[in-house]
Amino acid sequence: MDITKLDQAVKLIRKAKYAVAFTGAGISVESGIPPFRGKHGLWNKVDPIFLEIEYFKNKPLQSWKIIKEIFYDKLNNIEPNIAHKVLAKMEERSFLETIITQNIDHLHQKAGSRYVYELHGTYKQLVCTECSSEFDISFANLDFLPPTCYICKGILKPDIVFFNEPIPAFAKKRSFEEAKKADLMLIIGTNAEVLPAADIPVVAKENGAKIIEINIKETHFTKEITDFYLQGKASEIMKEIGKKLYL
Ligand code: NAD
Ligand code: ZN
Repeated sequence: MDITKLDQAVKLIRKAKYAVAFTGAGISVESGIPPFRGKHGLWNKVDPIFLEIEYFKNKPLQSWKIIKEIFYDKLNNIEPNIAHKVLAKMEERSFLETIITQNIDHLHQKAGSRYVYELHGTYKQLVCTECSSEFDISFANLDFLPPTCYICKGILKPDIVFFNEPIPAFAKKRSFEEAKKADLMLIIGTNAEVLPAADIPVVAKENGAKIIEINIKETHFTKEITDFYLQGKASEIMKEIGKKLYL
């Protein structure tokens, strides 16, 4: 860990008037959720087709079987790690305004963060493909797949953004507004290779924000927009940042 750089990053955080975090799968890796891409990524084990919206519409049972196995059988028992917790403390102590996340795992909220925009939806909610009713996952019985709507018996879909599905309009609008307001953005654990998510830090930068990036390896942001690149695991770096901010 580069202590000088870390100190400079902490100075920036202290000075910032409107800091926003932008997080991806990497922040949850140490909670036990694998990312999609990379050496230990999910796509090395399963075919991403089951997350395509057309596939889901045509074969909801097959799609649900895999989604249940990779997300639902695990996610309820998974806990936020120190990186999620430090972000929640930063919000509590007014060092951070909001979090924009591409994750669907609800771990930011579980850690105590209140202002979280979920660009790619959440596993916590199911939505009816017929009548659009929404249900908390605690009401669903996933022993019988696919789960069906209590109102119209339509098939329920996880409220996550499938491939070829649009981003939820409200989260998208708010995320770009936050990016424009930010004078500091912390990018944590994301390649952000898909649009529009990939544009969010760029918009922040164009509007004058400084960029701190935390990742185990460089991304396309590192050379293009990052001011302070802190290389390492999200948990280790965020733990140090937390200490230096006396959280
Ligand atoms: P990604 O899978 O493309 O990339 C993960 C990133 O995290 C990489 O840059 C990698 O270097 C970094 N990383 C891995 N371990 C790390 C660690 N311990 N500390 C810091 N960084 C680490 O993920 P993505 O760019 O976020 O986007 C892919 C899509 O996958 C997103 O839309 C997201 O919704 C979805 N996804 C979500 C979850 C989740 O909710 N936890 C898990 C997998 C995928
Ligand atoms: Zn319904």
